[in-house]
Amino acid sequence: MNFEFSEEQKLFADSVRRFALAHLQKDALARAHDPRFPFDVAKRMSEQGLMGITIAQEDDGQGGSLMDAVIAIEQIASVCPRSADVVQFGSFGPIRTFAEYGTPAQKARWLPELLTGRMVMSLGMTEPDAGSAATELKTSARPDGAHYLLNGTKVFSTFSPDAAIFLIYVRFGPGLGGIGSVIVERGTPGFVIGPPQSFMSGEEWCELHFEQCRIPAENVLLGPGGFKKQMSGFNVERIGNSARALAFGRYAFNQAREHAQVREQFGRPLCEFQGLQWKFADLAIKLEGTQLLLYRAAANADRGFPSAYETAVAKAACNQVGFDLANEAVQIMGATGYSRSTLVEYCMRRCRGWMIAGGSVEILRNRIAEHVFDRRFDQRPPRHADAAE
Ligand SMILES: Cc1cc2nc3c(=O)[nH]c(=O)nc-3n(C[C@H](O)[C@H](O)[C@H](O)COP(=O)(O)OP(=O)(O)OC[C@H]3O[C@@H](n4cnc5c(N)ncnc54)[C@H](O)[C@@H]3O)c2cc1C
Repeated sequence: MNFEFSEEQKLFADSVRRFALAHLQKDALARAHDPRFPFDVAKRMSEQGLMGITIAQEDDGQGGSLMDAVIAIEQIASVCPRSADVVQFGSFGPIRTFAEYGTPAQKARWLPELLTGRMVMSLGMTEPDAGSAATELKTSARPDGAHYLLNGTKVFSTFSPDAAIFLIYVRFGPGLGGIGSVIVERGTPGFVIGPPQSFMSGEEWCELHFEQCRIPAENVLLGPGGFKKQMSGFNVERIGNSARALAFGRYAFNQAREHAQVREQFGRPLCEFQGLQWKFADLAIKLEGTQLLLYRAAANADRGFPSAYETAVAKAACNQVGFDLANEAVQIMGATGYSRSTLVEYCMRRCRGWMIAGGSVEILRNRIAEHVFDRRFDQRPPRHADAAE
C-alpha cells in the first residue's frame, strides 16, 4: 500500500496548479457569482488538455484515469472553485456515459464540440415525482416509425440554461427494464425549456418539457434495459461530485487557517485560542480520513467505473465533510467568512447542494447499509396480499 502520488501524478498536479494560478486565479470570485457556464474556461482547459481526461484517446479524450481527473479537480478548485465545474463537465458528467455508450455516429457528431468547450451537455434524470426514487420516472419514449415521441418533464438539471444537448433518462416500457436514455438537441420541436430558476448556490436550472417531441431513433443512447449501465456512468459523476465537495471544503479550511493566523482579537491571533485549535484539529482529522476514501474509490475504479459501494461511502463522507469544513470556516472567519467578498460562503452554499444532488447523503446511507447487511432493503411500502384482494 502506498499513500503517495506517483511521480507522474505529482508532475500532473503541479502543471494543473500552475495553469490555474496563471489563468483562473484573477477572476475566481466573479466566476463564482456568475450563474452561467464558464465557456471561456472550458476553451482554455481544452487547449491545456484538461477536457475529456477520462475519455479514451480514440474519442479525442486524454485517455487518463479517474484518479487523474480527481487530481485535476483538486488543483483547479484550490485556486478557482467554480472552474472545477468545468473539469466535472469534461470528465465526470453525462459526457462520460455518452462517450462510453454512444454510437460512432453520435460521438462523431457531438464529442468534438463538447471536448473543445464550445458546447455543454446537461443530464435530465429527475422529474417532479421522481427524485430519490429515480426509477419512478415517467418521461416516455414511444416508437413512431423511424422516430420516438417524447412526453414528460425534467427538473433541476445542472447546466440546462446553457446546454445545447441533453442526455435524458426515458421510459420505453414498464418497470426497471423499460428505462433507457436518449439525446435531445435544444431547438427540437416539442422540447420546451422553461425560464431559469436559481439554486441556493446561485447556479441556474430550467424545467425541461417534452410535448410530443419527435427525435430520430439514432438519438437513442441506451435502449430498454440501459438503466444499470446509466448508473455505472453515474457513479463516475458521483466521484466528481465527491471530489469537488471535499476540494471546496479544503479551500475554505485553508482560507480559515490563513485568517486565524493574521486576525487578532483580545491582543493575540485567533489561532492561539485553544477552542479554535481543536476545531481545526477535528476538521483536519475529518479531511485526511475522507480524502483517503475518495482516493480509494477513484484508484480502484475498474475500466474507469468505480464500485457502487466505494462510491457511496466516498460521496456520503465527502459531501458531509466538505460542508462541515466550509461551514466551520465561515464561523471561524466571522462576518468576513459570511461575506460575499470571500469565496468561503460560496463553498459552503455549493457543498450544501451536493448533500442533495446525485444521490442524497440519506440515499447513499441506504446503499451502504445494504452492503453492511448484505441484503436489499426495498424502500417501497410492503404490498400486502390482502390489499390486492
Ligand atoms: C445542486 C443540484 C444539482 C442537481 N443536478 C441535477 C442534474 O443535473 N440532473 C438531474 O436530473 N437532477 C439534478 N438534481 C436533482 C437531484 O438529483 C435530486 O434533488 C435528488 O435526486 C433528490 O430528489 P428530490 O430533490 O426530489 O428529493 P426527494 O427525493 O423528495 O427527497 C427529500 C428528502 O427525503 C430523503 N429521502 C427520500 N427517500 C428516502 C429514503 N428512502 N430513505 C431516507 N431518506 C430519503 C432525501 O434524502 C431528501 O433529504 C440536482 C439537485 C441539486 C440540489
